[in-house]
Amino acid sequence: MLRALLLAPPGAGKGTQGERLAQVYGVPHLATGDLLRHHVAEATALGREAKGYMDRGELVPDRLVVDMVSDRIAGAQQLAGFVLDGFPRTLTQARQSYEWGRAKGRTFHAVISLQVPEDELVRRLVERGRSSGRTDDNEETIRNRLAVYAEHTEPLLDFYRGREILLEVDGTGTVPEVTARIGGALLPLAFP
Ligand code: ADP
Repeated sequence: MLRALLLAPPGAGKGTQGERLAQVYGVPHLATGDLLRHHVAEATALGREAKGYMDRGELVPDRLVVDMVSDRIAGAQQLAGFVLDGFPRTLTQARQSYEWGRAKGRTFHAVISLQVPEDELVRRLVERGRSSGRTDDNEETIRNRLAVYAEHTEPLLDFYRGREILLEVDGTGTVPEVTARIGGALLPLAFP
């Protein structure tokens, strides 16, 4: 069963492609942004703590996110496969999930990096903000999220490149075109 993660800046299509990949490979799609927004909507303790960070386009502290994700993967219902989107987003999260994955036999088979030019990202996010009403999709927060991505998340590309599981995929073009490219990149991989 596939254990993959999508690693890309906001607006690159992690959510859309994550949904489609999960369906193709018959595994759940876990988007940390969606899980967090759910906690905010339900006003759980985690949601109340996370909300301010999210509204400012900052990262939610590592310990909160790591616990939330490991609970979801190894909690009451254990998941052997998944497509993760939005996690890990810092080197600390990446190192902790690698240690944790090794201990549980749940390391990732593939990390898919979606490549999209910055002006296209901003255009997509502004457009999404108009239609979805996501409060963090306004121009100022978008710029901040892109800067946070460059500073905290981009270094993970080298982390996974070093482990030889990084797949770099062109994220421009239509949704089905991108899905087909990802499928092509996953094809040579073995995952039982
Ligand atoms: P996007 O990729 O468009 O920024 P997400 O839905 O993935 O959207 O994330 C929305 C917000 O949720 C982020 O700006 C951040 O505040 C928080 N978040 C999501 N995943 C993580 C994570 N792994 N670590 C810290 N914060 C996170």
